[in-house]
Amino acid sequence: MHDGGSPASAAGPGGRIKTLVILGASGDLTGRLLLPGVARLIASGRAPGLSLVGAGSDDWTAQTWQGRLTKSFAEALSGTSDGSSTGAGRAELARVQKGSSYHQLDVTAKGALGDFLKSVEGPVALYFALPPAVSQKACEVLRKKELPAGTRLVMEKPFGSSTESARELNATLAGLVPEDHIHRVDHFLGKSTVLNIMGLRFANRLLEHSWNGEHVEKVEIVFDESLTLENRARYYDHAGAGRDMIQSHLLQIMAIMAMEPPATLEENDVRSNIAAVLRASTIGPQGSTDFAANTRRARYTSGAIGDRQVPDYLAEDGVDPANDTETLAEVEVYVNNWRWAGVPFILRSGKALGRSRKEAVVTFKPVPHLPIGFKGTDSPTRLHIGFGPETLTLDLDVNGPGDLFTLDRVQLEADLGSDPLLPYGEVLDGVLSADPLLSVRGDTAEECWRIVEPAFAAWKSGEVPMEEYAAGSPGPEDWPTTAEV
Ligand code: NDP
Repeated sequence: MHDGGSPASAAGPGGRIKTLVILGASGDLTGRLLLPGVARLIASGRAPGLSLVGAGSDDWTAQTWQGRLTKSFAEALSGTSDGSSTGAGRAELARVQKGSSYHQLDVTAKGALGDFLKSVEGPVALYFALPPAVSQKACEVLRKKELPAGTRLVMEKPFGSSTESARELNATLAGLVPEDHIHRVDHFLGKSTVLNIMGLRFANRLLEHSWNGEHVEKVEIVFDESLTLENRARYYDHAGAGRDMIQSHLLQIMAIMAMEPPATLEENDVRSNIAAVLRASTIGPQGSTDFAANTRRARYTSGAIGDRQVPDYLAEDGVDPANDTETLAEVEVYVNNWRWAGVPFILRSGKALGRSRKEAVVTFKPVPHLPIGFKGTDSPTRLHIGFGPETLTLDLDVNGPGDLFTLDRVQLEADLGSDPLLPYGEVLDGVLSADPLLSVRGDTAEECWRIVEPAFAAWKSGEVPMEEYAAGSPGPEDWPTTAEV
């Protein structure tokens, strides 16, 4: 559902974007994720009057570009009979495609991007769908005066590779546009994910009252995929599960789970509260450097996922064993403030697991006293928030059928609201409507690196052993999150 006049969707400073310029138009991200997101967004009627321009270093003809648009748009719209696209929206998409052009450009050459931008109608969103080093170089050679008024810069992950490099990149960007015109993309921070967590927490007095260390034993945030490397060794074999998922997406979701209630859904209120959580966070209890106790890492060996045979990770094309890359990682983060002192937030993500599991699970402490006379297991109250599909499940103990003295487990289930836009459609919706609510703010991008860096250094030095799990299994058996799968 689109919320029309809500603060989260109102056009922010600088007004609505007129032209979306995709740098890296011939790349994988553009074809597989970005253009389908553009298609859904325009077809839903939410991006009226937009122009689309592609740029890349390849010598593409207009026909090649049009061919790419036709393919990506058709794939994105096939099967959207759920009301997410309108007749007028589809006509608008055809108009955008017809008017779209491709330009060959080396964005790292001094003046090249600036000159090109003179021919584009502003305000412009410049989407850097480029290798990170190329994006950085492109921003370094750009000059503020070359940017049309109201320009927004859209930066992909990874944002830097350390606290220091993220800080340097932030400084470069700050020399070009104001912070609220910089969109550091985290496509896991979809509007539905963020708003569902906040709605659940802040619209229910019952929940918020017990949302703290006095009542909560632990919080787990799990993103297990059954997908394997899928030919992405060039990127993934250098990133691993820790950098790919935990450093960015999972810490952001943790911050929304742990944040203080914001006064409004304006970006400044929400993002400041997210930043406060991350500033207070460490891996392991504050001051601990026992990363062998507070983190785990593992790599998949050969196995079967359904009827698909999966090779050992180290035998996958393009993998270098010397990189010592983990395909499953788990870290225990502590938010060292009054509300959360002593409560572990266990963040786990990995590939080639037996089942895809994407959820946050809040486990509440046991009751202080269970009346003597009840039989059966007194299991903890658990709240599961599912991400894609968006669901809510509450596990409770109730009096069992038959014998009312025996406790039994029930699950209260609900579907939560979702947005028919694809994740990149949601990202672009924020960019085009000039709303940075769902973008990662510069200081939090640095904080996320600051939190994980000591653990990654311990992994590199061999302080934390690399474990193994068979592809298709639930993961190493003795990990706490595996036991509950
Ligand atoms: P690709 O290598 O597939 O594409 C990179 C694009 O950049 C190509 O179009 C390439 O053109 C272009 N390019 C390279 N150098 C220049 C230059 N000097 N001037 C102009 N264009 C240039 O990368 P991806 O699409 O996979 O990734 C892009 C970004 O998105 C990365 O930051 C990545 O981390 C991020 N990302 C990617 C995801 C994915 O699934 N692919 C998912 C999430 C994030 P040419 O081919 O002509 O060199």
